[in-house]
Amino acid sequence: MKPFGEKPRIAVHKFSSCDGCQLAFLNLGGDLITLSQRVQLTHFLEAGLDAPDTPVDIAFVEGSLSTPDEVERIRKVRDNSRYLVSIGACATAGGLQALRNLDNKHDEWRDAIYAQPEFISTLEHAHPIASEVRVDYELWGCPINSRQLLACINSLLFGVPPFDNSEKLCLE
Ligand code: SF4
Repeated sequence: MKPFGEKPRIAVHKFSSCDGCQLAFLNLGGDLITLSQRVQLTHFLEAGLDAPDTPVDIAFVEGSLSTPDEVERIRKVRDNSRYLVSIGACATAGGLQALRNLDNKHDEWRDAIYAQPEFISTLEHAHPIASEVRVDYELWGCPINSRQLLACINSLLFGVPPFDNSEKLCLE
């Protein structure tokens, strides 16, 4: 793996999700402070950082692709990122949103759930991130675990593919 610059840039992007996997970052506590000295966090809305189009070394992506806007957005994230890591069941498998893939009642469900469905623009099916763009690594779980996240970041920063045979922490 080609080494990173002095202070690698990292972004955390949210798509259709409950935010639970992003909390794995915030739950790092003191390790997050240590990490922030080694990397530059550029985009992470839950932490008040809003610069989604900044080119980064590593982009973490939470959530599934459930709207046309999200499909456009993930393409931009891919273009702006050296490594893209999907985090959590929503991003790696579609998550709960993908339950609607099991039947063909998308319009019926949307109309039953939203008071003004005419304002809602959603895809008929919800998809994992890898269905639309190349994903370099995946972290599985619902939610992911903070330690597996930290192990993945450290591996990437030290130029080692983040794969652990015994735990399957991060899959290439
Ligand atoms: Fe939330 Fe689970 Fe999806 Fe993570 S994988 S965003 S915890 S629903």
